[in-house]
Amino acid sequence: MTKYKLEYIWLDGYTPVPNLRGKTQIKEYSSFPELEQLPLWGFDGSSTQQAEGRSSDCVLKPVRHFFDSQRKDGVLVLCEVMMPDGVTPHPSNKRATILDDGGAWFGFEQEYFFYKNGRPLGFPDMGYPAPQGPYYTGVGYANVGSVARHIVEEHLDICLAAGINHEGINAEVAKGQWEFQIFGKGSKRAADEMWMARYLMQRLCEKYEIDVEYHCKPLGATDWNGSGMHANFSTTYLRDVGGQAYFEKLMAAFEAAREEHIAVYGPDNHLRLTGHHETQSIHQFSYGVADRGASIRVPHSFVKNGYRGYLEDRRPNSQGDPYQIASQILKTIATVPISAEAGVAAAA
Ligand code: ADP
Ligand code: MN
Ligand code: MN
Ligand code: MN
Repeated sequence: MTKYKLEYIWLDGYTPVPNLRGKTQIKEYSSFPELEQLPLWGFDGSSTQQAEGRSSDCVLKPVRHFFDSQRKDGVLVLCEVMMPDGVTPHPSNKRATILDDGGAWFGFEQEYFFYKNGRPLGFPDMGYPAPQGPYYTGVGYANVGSVARHIVEEHLDICLAAGINHEGINAEVAKGQWEFQIFGKGSKRAADEMWMARYLMQRLCEKYEIDVEYHCKPLGATDWNGSGMHANFSTTYLRDVGGQAYFEKLMAAFEAAREEHIAVYGPDNHLRLTGHHETQSIHQFSYGVADRGASIRVPHSFVKNGYRGYLEDRRPNSQGDPYQIASQILKTIATVPISAEAGVAAAA
């Protein structure tokens, strides 16, 4: 038997943005445990804005688990927060609101800044570094410094060892700003793995004495880019059938639900969605082929393939909750009827 260190990880009840929380329990298993072998556990919800002090117990229900390469015999246990009955989702549990759809695929592009002493990593103590231009996908000390690449490479290795479907990295437009991408098949998978990847990034940065700044516009109304979390999405119907008529109905549904989407696309997004810096205004909805100034970018390949494939919603920001984002996108898609006839015609 081996004593495994089970790190139970969950989202707290803070709004508008939940924080990641975690605590460890030790359990013995003969080999790396299956998800079903991981017990429910509890925590004090009065310390996480999830309960009143008088009846403070909340329940942690394991929903995904990962190999923790950073800890001897370590297991990362991603949990949903449940009410004391163990079966009713807690109101803060947004994962439970996502429609089940194995054919829904999401790809999230997480942008963020590294921060040191309250400034983006690489910024001088006073004033600003050279203006934006060379940093995006840049190389060399002047562009990316000497520490950031160590962190993003180590994070990549930790994610891959955990089985997270990390898809890539790039240095971003602002100095100290980076991006990684997570893709997943199934309506909850990419969102689960994004939260896990965020956890691993924050934990890794502790030893570098660096913080991860997810705010969408940490440098305010300057000429420095903000951070987004573009949500690329597709469903089985959109990939296999699609068609211009369906696409146009889908975009009309997105336009009608503009406010519901913006409500869950991350706080302070009006600071970022200004119509500048490759964004559409928060008050407008638009879509366009290869248009990085649109709310939704339609890849060239989508049109070439007869309006089939995936779409990129560019509005979600870096601080957004991927559970709430995926949940809203699937809700809006579900309002658009799919025609059996169109399916037959496309297949013929
Ligand atoms: P860009 O920076 O040009 O917008 P990225 O390469 O950073 O593009 O991100 C594109 C994202 O789209 C990736 O996360 C990828 O996994 C995702 N993606 C690709 N194909 C699909 C698909 N069929 N359904 C959903 N997401 C997809
Ligand atoms: Mn990208
Ligand atoms: Mn980007
Ligand atoms: Mn993108």
